[in-house]
Amino acid sequence: MTDQTDIAVVGGGVAGLMAATYTARHDFETRVFDTGASILRRNAHLENVPGFPVGVDARLWLDMLAEQAERAGATLIEAEVTAVTDTEGGTFRVETAAETFTVPRVVLATKNDVSYLDVEGVGVIDRGKTFLDTDERGRTGVDGCYAAGRLAEKPHQAAVAAGHGAEVGVALLEDADVGFYHDWVAPDGYFTDRGRDLPPGCEEVDRETYERRREQAHRTIADRFSDPDLEPPETHPSLQE
Ligand SMILES: Cc1cc2nc3c(=O)[nH]c(=O)nc-3n(C[C@H](O)[C@H](O)[C@H](O)COP(=O)(O)OP(=O)(O)OC[C@H]3O[C@@H](n4cnc5c(N)ncnc54)[C@H](O)[C@@H]3O)c2cc1C
Repeated sequence: MTDQTDIAVVGGGVAGLMAATYTARHDFETRVFDTGASILRRNAHLENVPGFPVGVDARLWLDMLAEQAERAGATLIEAEVTAVTDTEGGTFRVETAAETFTVPRVVLATKNDVSYLDVEGVGVIDRGKTFLDTDERGRTGVDGCYAAGRLAEKPHQAAVAAGHGAEVGVALLEDADVGFYHDWVAPDGYFTDRGRDLPPGCEEVDRETYERRREQAHRTIADRFSDPDLEPPETHPSLQE
């Protein structure tokens, strides 16, 4: 079966999930393929990501990133991507054992693995570990093909991978010509009371909407952290029996 989608993200670890959150929030049909082996699942306790003064369980944090990408509209698919190849039409074929997708844009976020990649013009760097040659925004030099996180030679920290995933998502949107893009939620009238149009990817919310979302956010976070021992999130496959 061959299917069409706007964006395929190969690797649903930290960087891939953040890139997907940005593209899905702008209504790009985004599919994330992942084998459940983010290296973050090898972490003992995550103490340097923003917003957690005494740290957070790395696996729980990753699961919450996945939940966030899904809520933004991305589709998460548990599958290994076995091939990404370019086509004559300038698109990419993304293959799993079960399906093949044809996409105009791919984000590769598989840390140090590119064994599935066969796209002419993408530079592979071998330094004992494998990386892809990109510019700062994750562009590989082949239109529509991006790399995010550790695979794009970013430093080996979760916050850096998350930030770079977001940056790659925004770069992709800019290259797709969605216009000036912020992804901001602003108070009612922030733009429009000053006679300005809402920029693409911006929303103004009134007080009632703000309070409703704030309450929902607090309840959701309280729920996720209410009993962290009850169901320990899944560890890295190498740690499972
Ligand atoms: C022991 C250890 C402890 C660490 N502790 C910390 C810490 O305390 N603080 C910190 O900031 N950083 C820490 N790190 C580093 C941090 O985990 C990484 O920098 C970060 O996870 C990199 O994100 P990434 O998205 O590039 O890669 P990953 O999070 O590893 O994501 C890559 C994803 O690609 C998927 N994948 C690979 N190949 C395929 C394929 N063919 N098809 C589909 N999916 C595929 C994998 O399943 C994986 O989910 C630690 C790392 C290790 C090893």
